[in-house]
Amino acid sequence: MRRPLVAGNWKMHGTRASVSELIDGLRLQDLPEDVEVAVMPTFVHLTSVIDAVADGAIVVGAQDCAFEPMPCALTGEVAASQLIDAGCRYVLVGHSERRQLLGETDALIVRKFAAAQGVGLIPLLCVGETLAEREAGQTLDVVMRQLRAIVDALGVAVLERAVIAYEPVWAIGTGLTATPEQAQEVHAAIRRYIAQCSAQVAQGVRILYGGSVKATGAAELFGMPDIDGGLVGGASLNADEFGAICRAAR
Ligand code: PGA
Repeated sequence: MRRPLVAGNWKMHGTRASVSELIDGLRLQDLPEDVEVAVMPTFVHLTSVIDAVADGAIVVGAQDCAFEPMPCALTGEVAASQLIDAGCRYVLVGHSERRQLLGETDALIVRKFAAAQGVGLIPLLCVGETLAEREAGQTLDVVMRQLRAIVDALGVAVLERAVIAYEPVWAIGTGLTATPEQAQEVHAAIRRYIAQCSAQVAQGVRILYGGSVKATGAAELFGMPDIDGGLVGGASLNADEFGAICRAAR
């Protein structure tokens, strides 16, 4: 019922040459039609990637957008409307690297989420706890606080046009993946929380897992009932590995 989504978050990686090589590699992959596949390059590589995949089965997202939806005097930022105009479908909001290293707050993330949706981009909201928070037994409190910020400010219906990614911070880029059971527990809790407001929205929203997803183990993660695909960092920079992860989501 929910079409799986596998999104490759390329983070601040790539040169024109390596990006073009990666796209060539992805075009050779046997990507499953019943899985939506997205890649998220840096802003400088966005348009060349969009042009390169225009005829194919891959959609493109950005990694961030400004809190102002439309072009204005805001040096260094990119408006959600400019991302739509360029041909993007998705945008990440609230990635833990931006929360932790760039000081993004729940309030700022709400504005970016609203800016993206306001122009028709689909926000991919990232939530997740740190290791200290998990060890203190606060995982669900933290994740629900991050989600509640959106629902309280914008209403639950906005999740009909959004995707959620559960990314435990301790699993990002560390090689430590949550076990399928650990991930499923949080995904199910997210869906239960949304169901308290709307059973229909809860049933429809895709919840991706992110944090050191690799081809090995991907099928077990994606086989859990509330895991609808993955947000993949490091492993998305290798076309064969990323292709295998996409096929595991079938
Ligand atoms: P990783 O990154 O797969 O390299 O852990 C995931 C992410 O940060 O989205």
